[in-house]
Amino acid sequence: MKVALDHLTKIYPSRTKGGAPVRAVDNFTFEIPDGKLIGLLGPSGCGKSTTLNLISGLEAPTEGKIYFGDDDVTDLPPEKRGVGLVFQNYALYPHLTVRENIRFPLENFRGKDKLTNEEMDRRALEAAKLVQIENLMERKPAQMSGGQQQRVAIARALVKMPRVLLLDEPLSNLDARLRLQTREELRRIQNETGITTVFVTHDQEEAMSISDMIVVMEKGVVRQIGAPQEVYDDPKNLFVAKFLGTPPINVFRGSVKADKLMIGSEAVLDIKGVPDGDITVGIRPEGFVLNENGRFTCELSRVEVMGRDTSVVSTHKCMDGVSVRSIIPSEDKVKPGKTVRFDLKPSKVHLFDSKTGERVYYEVKK
Ligand code: ADP
Ligand code: MG
Repeated sequence: MKVALDHLTKIYPSRTKGGAPVRAVDNFTFEIPDGKLIGLLGPSGCGKSTTLNLISGLEAPTEGKIYFGDDDVTDLPPEKRGVGLVFQNYALYPHLTVRENIRFPLENFRGKDKLTNEEMDRRALEAAKLVQIENLMERKPAQMSGGQQQRVAIARALVKMPRVLLLDEPLSNLDARLRLQTREELRRIQNETGITTVFVTHDQEEAMSISDMIVVMEKGVVRQIGAPQEVYDDPKNLFVAKFLGTPPINVFRGSVKADKLMIGSEAVLDIKGVPDGDITVGIRPEGFVLNENGRFTCELSRVEVMGRDTSVVSTHKCMDGVSVRSIIPSEDKVKPGKTVRFDLKPSKVHLFDSKTGERVYYEVKK
């Protein structure tokens, strides 16, 4: 089921008396392709949950429309939309067994949709198998780990065979190892069922690793949509560039002078197509190439060998932030000393307008 968001806007009155209204979601237009997993990504408060709640029908938009396939569902209540919801806190019924928790949504079917006891149990077992908890059906939530409880919540969302699956930070309460494992499981389940899924997270690595496409939001506004690698490689603005990647992109105050990209007094790249003036320079950690005669000089702080890669930590007076983090292959040995010099890989050097943060594209001069 494809899901179309058409100029979707949600404005909340301020929580404080006399404060300005909050544009939690601001003019969001996007068509989620059928059967894909979309990662909705951004810092806390950027409007992820509000977007999800608009899709589920828990919230009504101030403006705009939502379509499931060709159906306008904007005015449909949540229970009529055929969505499965999973939240960060599993919200299971503590006095019910796993089986009873999973089949709970089916008990409400009335009239011609009413299911027999056997049919409900059969469907609950099927959903439980998808998340691999079929051997825990008679347990109560308190007798299970957080990861197992979240699987029950996912099974409960799947049991109605939803048209759309909506997950709001579903892994945030799990410890690191379980998070990894459960996110792989989610990807597998989504692939097996083919249910169009929106996955909300503030964790860029999590979103990058499981999504077919990511949507990066800032203060209610969609800043970029694309395949994870595409957004990482080609960020449209400084916000997106900084939000994706660990270690994060290194940001410097630079300038362009007569086709030379300058950081401090050094001309670090020869470029074309950018007028003279101040510019913000973003360099991915993997964009540094160790070279004794390199064009970019930093003050060496320390070298951290991490097996295959080496992390070189340095400082620079034009740096926005504490330290410059570069990742180089461990075969490249850093000579001890006060400074370290690099050449830069142009594909990993992104320029941004110093005032607006919008990307400024350049050509490399040969
Ligand atoms: P996220 O899920 O990305 O952390 P939310 O969608 O929960 O963000 O919130 C987006 C913005 O809307 C925030 O500024 C939040 O404070 C505000 N907001 C959310 N719900 C309400 C509400 N019921 N009343 C007023 N403001 C709200
Ligand atoms: Mg939220």
